[in-house]
Amino acid sequence: MHGSSCLLASRRGLVRSGALVVVAFISAGCNAILGPSSVDDNWHSFDSGHFTLYVRPGSFAEGNQGRLGEVLDDQYGATLAALNVSYAGRISAFLYSDAADGKLDSNRSGVAYAATEALRATCTPPLDGNLFVLLQHEANHVIQRNTLGRPGTSFMNEGLPSAVLSTRFHDYGKDFLYAWTADHLSAIPPLTNLVDDEQWVGSQVAYNASASFLAYLLEQHGAGPIKELFQVSSKAFGQRIQTLYGRSLDDLDREWRAFCVAHRTSSLS
Ligand SMILES: [Zn+2]
Repeated sequence: MHGSSCLLASRRGLVRSGALVVVAFISAGCNAILGPSSVDDNWHSFDSGHFTLYVRPGSFAEGNQGRLGEVLDDQYGATLAALNVSYAGRISAFLYSDAADGKLDSNRSGVAYAATEALRATCTPPLDGNLFVLLQHEANHVIQRNTLGRPGTSFMNEGLPSAVLSTRFHDYGKDFLYAWTADHLSAIPPLTNLVDDEQWVGSQVAYNASASFLAYLLEQHGAGPIKELFQVSSKAFGQRIQTLYGRSLDDLDREWRAFCVAHRTSSLS
């Protein structure tokens, strides 16, 4: 049984071109575990293309099940395309009215059950990018575990689900992560620390940095090497990076940070 709590991000402001642009960061807690979970039977269910949404009768989730299914179906396709994997599973999404209802950590919190192709999450207003990101991230845990196997590091386990977020319904995709990285260079530990599970602390910085770096690797080098890297342990990670990418993790760390700074500069001009 593997469990890891995750905090994706919290609210903050971004200063761009002298103007204050407030970005609603993703505020979410997440656990990715293998086991089944017992659920009660007080649900209405709705099928989307790839998900069965279980919602409380009369709830906010029920009122918005059409859009939620649309967001999840879009992510499902985006994840398979981004990782170049095949998966035909139908995912059961149990959407709770609040943290107490779902016995979850907060009103933006979820758990993925890879073995049973299920997720449970809070689904509270507003119907915005923060909520979509939480559900997309949990769904990606299920898809990735069922296509790429068991993740070898917390870095990969929590980074990849957010590295491939579709931006059809919000802006919290890779461009957002790159801008965040450029703003937090000094706060982000060396990647050699982040890929070491003994040093993984599960902080907001760790989650955002891992997602940003993996999005960068995907964009620059495609899905092939990432899939080779997915199950690699912390101890073997540096050597495997060298083999797959032809340079050290420290070199890639520098290139990634420089890319994020340059990317922000070009996006402002
Ligand atoms: Zn997670």
